Amino acid sequence: MSTKAVELVVSPSAPHFVGDGFRVHNFIPSAYKLDMKRMDPFIMLDYNSKYTFEPSIEPKGVGVHPHRGFETVTIAYKGQIEHHDSSGGGGVISEGDVQWMTAASGVLHKEFHEREWSKKGGEFQMVQLWVNLPAKDKMSTPKYQAIENSTINRFQIENNGGEIEVIAGEYQGVGGAASTFTPLHLQNAKLKQGTKAKFSFPSHFNTGLLVIEGSMKVNQSDEVPTNHFVLMANQGEEFEIEATSDAVILILSGEPINEPIATHGPFVMNTREEIVQAFEDFNNGKFGYLAD
Ligand code: MN
Repeated sequence: MSTKAVELVVSPSAPHFVGDGFRVHNFIPSAYKLDMKRMDPFIMLDYNSKYTFEPSIEPKGVGVHPHRGFETVTIAYKGQIEHHDSSGGGGVISEGDVQWMTAASGVLHKEFHEREWSKKGGEFQMVQLWVNLPAKDKMSTPKYQAIENSTINRFQIENNGGEIEVIAGEYQGVGGAASTFTPLHLQNAKLKQGTKAKFSFPSHFNTGLLVIEGSMKVNQSDEVPTNHFVLMANQGEEFEIEATSDAVILILSGEPINEPIATHGPFVMNTREEIVQAFEDFNNGKFGYLAD
């Protein structure tokens, strides 16, 4: 085992709105090296850093839109999101919850602030990740994993130093709540100031860290502030983070799928022909129906 070093620290890009309800910094794909291949299988990462929405009678969000060929993973840190889809499914993602939606062959859905939450407004903070699917699974049946915070397994750090919430994958024998199509780890490290935590992932796994709250050092690096992303090198396995103030760090590590990516808007396939097919199927109503 050898040390996995920091490759790059990425500052948050200027935010933009997705619909009128998500004010996001796009970390993947973005400038520098973070294109859709560099963090494969994590092909998109939109981060709504903490932002206060004013009360609104009409919930803000994103109207009906399709997805095909991948999974969307929504992690709510502050606020509540309500979603509905063309299979009749729907639900509320509350603080600490995770929604793992396998769009696969195709869904229509819409994502809005939860109606009652919207009336009060307040601090809103969330991550939406797109996790790619291997070619053999892209046209599988859509499904949801609604993962409530209370059902997420945790590794407790000694001396009340905090905990590691294991959303997917594994941490020191504690297994993740979500099932995945390819090997990957997704964890929230919630660390008190001064606490250290060690991680070990295979060197070829693409690995990154997003500072959701507080600040940290990685392998005794300079301090990495809130809302910054750290890309780890694809050499070595082990690294250590230290919370330099009470911190929440989202940890991502996954085995690259290493297949061609053809993408347009909400579709991520392997070939241009499959993208054309996705638009045709969408226009022919094959993604079902969902009212505005
Ligand atoms: Mn969506």
